[in-house]
Amino acid sequence: MMTSNLDPTTLARREAAVLSAEHALLLREHAAALLESTLRQQESVAHAQSARTTLTESQLREANERLVVATVRAQTMTEAAEGVAAQMSHMATHDFLTGLPNRVLLADRLTQAITHAQRQRKCVALMYLDLDHFKHINDSLGHAVGDQLLQAVSRRLRENVRQSDTVCRFGGDEFVVLLSEVEGAGDATLSAGKLIDALAEPYAIGEHRLHITQSIGISIYPEHGRDVETMLRQADIAMYHGKRKGRNTFQLFAPQMNVRALARQSIEVALRNALDGEGLVLHYQPKVNIASGAITGAEALVRLRQPGHALMYPSGFVHIAEDCGLIRPIGRWVLAQACRQAAAWLDDGLDLGQMAVNVSATEFHGKDFLAGVRATLHESGLDPARLEIEMTESALMQDTQPGIDVLHGLKNLGAQIALDDFGTGYSSLSYLRRFPIDTLKIDQSFVRDIGSGGDTSMLVNAIIAMGKSLRLHVVAEGIETPTQRSYLQLQGCTEGQGFYFGRPVDAAGFSALLAARHDSYPGAQAGTRCAGNPGARLT
Ligand code: C2E
Ligand code: MG
Ligand code: MG
Repeated sequence: MMTSNLDPTTLARREAAVLSAEHALLLREHAAALLESTLRQQESVAHAQSARTTLTESQLREANERLVVATVRAQTMTEAAEGVAAQMSHMATHDFLTGLPNRVLLADRLTQAITHAQRQRKCVALMYLDLDHFKHINDSLGHAVGDQLLQAVSRRLRENVRQSDTVCRFGGDEFVVLLSEVEGAGDATLSAGKLIDALAEPYAIGEHRLHITQSIGISIYPEHGRDVETMLRQADIAMYHGKRKGRNTFQLFAPQMNVRALARQSIEVALRNALDGEGLVLHYQPKVNIASGAITGAEALVRLRQPGHALMYPSGFVHIAEDCGLIRPIGRWVLAQACRQAAAWLDDGLDLGQMAVNVSATEFHGKDFLAGVRATLHESGLDPARLEIEMTESALMQDTQPGIDVLHGLKNLGAQIALDDFGTGYSSLSYLRRFPIDTLKIDQSFVRDIGSGGDTSMLVNAIIAMGKSLRLHVVAEGIETPTQRSYLQLQGCTEGQGFYFGRPVDAAGFSALLAARHDSYPGAQAGTRCAGNPGARLT
């Protein structure tokens, strides 16, 4: 991601820079004209003196005074023009917002560092830094807060490297740090670890207390590249690799990462084609009442279909869709398709309970998200109470007012809100109270460990108890065995989801599941979170 989008502030600054340039040009022209006229006056004074013509003494004095004034003005203007020229050259090589060197200056310094290292037989390290989820902050709190955060980050970066190192802003939320003269990768990884720790401390911006982490990719001269282009590319690839492995981490470049970068590109193309054609498919997995096995809802799970390939699961493409800006159109498609499908099943008399749709943080923080959900519900005719939006804790991590407003907006529409993969993120009791959440979904990693004798069972118990005390529905994800089911039932967890009850299946498969349920219990009503409804047993 080496491109930068120009926001209105940057555009305005660019315009100001162009105006300053024009102003400087005018000043120079003016100064030149003045100098010329001064010279002419000097010539005529000289001529007058040498010719000892009939000029009176007062005329001579006046000419002299004019000469002095013109010379002083010309000097002042020349200085002003030189000042503007120096400012312009600084602007051409520095980032306006943070004052850090920009990519032009970095390329220059990296070239010098490489030449120097070549002579001294030393190494050079390049760190490509990208702030994790910075876009959410910009989207939810506005550009002014985003700008202040970027300035604060720049300061911390500068404070945590050596004077001789170069910290540069590459545009957007990307920075590059050049460590000239290092002994090897060890120095670079030490420095990267220090930067990760330094940036992870909270930032006080206005009334906000913000957290931001970063992913760092590192390339080393001469091991990974011998020129500016290659070193930047390899560090960028390593950075993406780090993001993929869980963010807030650094990653040293390795040649096999190039292969993955190519695979990434091909998935991006496949996603674009899928959005244009019919390459996205939804599968539906039943949610059930753990005690009775009755279906209480369906979770829509997206898959990517490519000619000649097996279906691809979200773990293979959702992160790429996030990075290349396709997650929002994909999310809109998923929501529309899931709502249409739920409405169609209900029209056919197949009561599925609620339809749950996963929404990523980027979608949730998009400014049209709420309006999009409202429009989709309207178009599909689905009763909003049938829709449940699933979000992970990290999507709500920043605990900001705009995010809370969207949650209330969803609630006002009549939709339900579930916290997905609960227990893996920044679980905090305070936000569980503050946010209008209906459901906690216990992450499958905890459920997997039930019966293995580890501490995680305690965690599961704690989440169930906490959910109960906050009057939330608690759904256990990833139930695969009868042991897990019995344990959860015993702990008072009412709902579950997992291969034990049913794998995700396509729309036809889920219709069959619902129809079988309908045939066995013709009078069965959904909304089966209500106690007492037997529904259809899946076990
Ligand atoms: P999730 O929302 O937590 O979905 C549950 C995932 O666990 C699904 O994987 C499901 O197939 C899998 N699963 C269900 N039961 C079991 C089980 O018993 N054992 C095991 N090992 N796995 C089980 P899937 O479909 O690969 O989706 C993975 C994740 O991708 C989802 O996690 C969700 O976070 C994301 N995702 C899926 N669809 C969408 C979507 O439309 N939009 C967005 N933004 N994310 C999606
Ligand atoms: Mg989910
Ligand atoms: Mg989950």
